[in-house]
Amino acid sequence: MPPWFRKKTPKIESVPVEERRVRTENVFVKCEQCEAPLYKRDLEEALQVCQHCGYHFRIGARERLAMFFDDGAYQELDAEVVSADPLEFVDSKPYPERLEQARRVSGLPEAIINARGKVGGHLVFAGAMDMLFIGGSMGSAVGEKVTRLVERALEKRAAVVIFSASGGARMQEGTLSLMQMAKVAAALARLDDAQLPYISVLTDPTTGGVTASFAMLGDVIIAEPKALIGFAGPRVIEQTIREKLPENFQRSEFLLEHGMIDAIVDRREMRAFIIKLLGFMMNPEITRETEAEVGVKQVNSKW
Ligand SMILES: [Zn+2]
Repeated sequence: MPPWFRKKTPKIESVPVEERRVRTENVFVKCEQCEAPLYKRDLEEALQVCQHCGYHFRIGARERLAMFFDDGAYQELDAEVVSADPLEFVDSKPYPERLEQARRVSGLPEAIINARGKVGGHLVFAGAMDMLFIGGSMGSAVGEKVTRLVERALEKRAAVVIFSASGGARMQEGTLSLMQMAKVAAALARLDDAQLPYISVLTDPTTGGVTASFAMLGDVIIAEPKALIGFAGPRVIEQTIREKLPENFQRSEFLLEHGMIDAIVDRREMRAFIIKLLGFMMNPEITRETEAEVGVKQVNSKW
């Protein structure tokens, strides 16, 4: 039987969901600090820093690595290392589903991206964390990736640079996440024995188990301006000590004042600053001496 009513062809062509946006929305963004309208292209050129007040917008891991390496060129490493679900953990949804969703939202395999490339001509193994992947949390895969990054640097006698951005340990992996703190700390101790540099860059926010392990273990610890850096959140601390915390507590500037970090560097100056550090720390004269020393150490350890 033929249908009684036939739908007419719609007069307005439907636009795919992902294109349903007013065009102007994509041109300007409002600064989260000074509320100035910022032209998106200018903002990109300024490495996502507001040219009026210096507010540092949060950026992703791949963006971070691209602005760090010479000519933005790097080789991604260890992308195959991803978290399993050893505890069969379920909160509001099963952990494997959460991982799958995080991969979709962030376009990343894990909460840290490992990369190898040149920075100011120096061979560098760099890691960049991403808040979009389950709050930049550290599970077994993140711990394993940081460890591998350090081991590769040991093998090639290169420097390690890690850009932290994290809410802390990943609760869906329980104790296994906490164990990563000891594991990466042990790997970094070996890097220290080999007298190779590790530069830690703290970005907004760096908290929890990441702060309590590799983020605070750098030979040089640099922070971006006004980044939130701490272990527990301010509310938890206030409730515990029953005292009002000072203003700016747990921000880069407060930490620098209290000797917890070495420098605060604007993102636009970060690459040049690190190249300067590497030029000093990777000085070939010093490196040669170090190699001789390490040689002696290895002979001695056989006794
Ligand atoms: Zn601003």
